Amino acid sequence: MKRVISVSMGEIALKGLNRGYFEDRLIKQIIKNIKEIGYEKIYKETGKIYIEGNPDDYPVIINRLKKVFGLVYISPCIRVDKDTEVINNAAKLAMKEATENSSIQTFKVDTNRSDKNYPLKSPEISRNIGGVILDEFEKLKVDVHNPDIYLYIDIKEHVYIYTERIKAYGGMPVGTSGKGLLLLSGGIDSPVAGFTMAKRGLAINCIHFHSYPFTSERSEEKVKDLAEILARYTGKFKFFSINLLEIQKEINKNCPEKEMTIISRRFMMRIAEKIANHNGYDALITGESLGQVASQTIQGIAVTNNSVDIPVLRPLIGMDKVDIIRIADDIETYETSILPFEDCCTVFLPKHPVTKPKVEDIKKSEEALDIDELVNNAIKNMKVYTIE
Ligand code: ATP
Ligand code: MG
Repeated sequence: MKRVISVSMGEIALKGLNRGYFEDRLIKQIIKNIKEIGYEKIYKETGKIYIEGNPDDYPVIINRLKKVFGLVYISPCIRVDKDTEVINNAAKLAMKEATENSSIQTFKVDTNRSDKNYPLKSPEISRNIGGVILDEFEKLKVDVHNPDIYLYIDIKEHVYIYTERIKAYGGMPVGTSGKGLLLLSGGIDSPVAGFTMAKRGLAINCIHFHSYPFTSERSEEKVKDLAEILARYTGKFKFFSINLLEIQKEINKNCPEKEMTIISRRFMMRIAEKIANHNGYDALITGESLGQVASQTIQGIAVTNNSVDIPVLRPLIGMDKVDIIRIADDIETYETSILPFEDCCTVFLPKHPVTKPKVEDIKKSEEALDIDELVNNAIKNMKVYTIE
């Protein structure tokens, strides 16, 4: 008898011919997340991945596994050989551990037999083990429709017995859907946007704009802290830090005050696009949500979009703030996001920003600026960090 952890892959199982590739990416990601804790072995057995290590470490390992995209659920299992008595004893042990000090009264045995050479069929196995459990635990009854607990029996090369399915995020292994560049501010939304796209398999890198010395070094540290929280899910990535102050000053000097925000947003996009193209990233990601603030009207978004050719992903576009906050809370970025540090956009905040900008008007205003020169200078002075 050996204790192992099983992980179930969701959509990956549907990926047909690519399945092997996705599984390998997933195993790599799992190893990255747990290697510093230590484990003995990782192996595949019909549709699941198994991890063998020191059972004392399993709670920590399970916590790390919850952050690996592509996993649907995680189960601590007892693994035994195909010997009826050994299986029965393991089933009793699993049930004892699950029901001790609990109010659980009903159960159902759920057997999955992938080894078709096993002499009994699934319903017979379930019935036999159900009988063993009823004999052993006086307080337990069977309820096949709405049991308090399931006792799962997977018959494969080995037999795996477990009662827990701990939910993970699902999604796709990071990096299997290409690469993106996240415009990361210090706010609540952009970290959630990055998380949401990483969950769909996009490898994430970050770009942040600051207005140092108008904004403090501490405010940049805060954004790096947010990036580090994201890296728990994505693994290490690049963090590009750009000083936008010169550009903001130029806009402030040469363009109508009410267009300050929208024009600086267009510069952010242009700079991000250039860096993305240079590094082979496939898309930009922002935390915009329709109607949330003055610059996020559909007209504002259209004018922002018009400054670049690269695809811009806005995973939060249709979400309400409360739902975004719920995710921020869950992924542990919220507490950092709400720390009160100034953002570069608030430095030159117009009193009455345009809410329905027109591309022609904005382009006209931008004629007063040497766009290429400003973009290139900002990139020349950028700092690049690695976030782990
Ligand atoms: P967030 O909560 O992500 O800051 P927000 O609701 O404050 O978003 P805006 O300030 O309009 O919205 O910003 C919209 C998006 O533009 C952000 O989600 C982010 O992707 C990007 N962005 C804004 N400011 C910056 C910045 N200083 N650096 C990098 N990206 C930024
Ligand atoms: Mg913001």
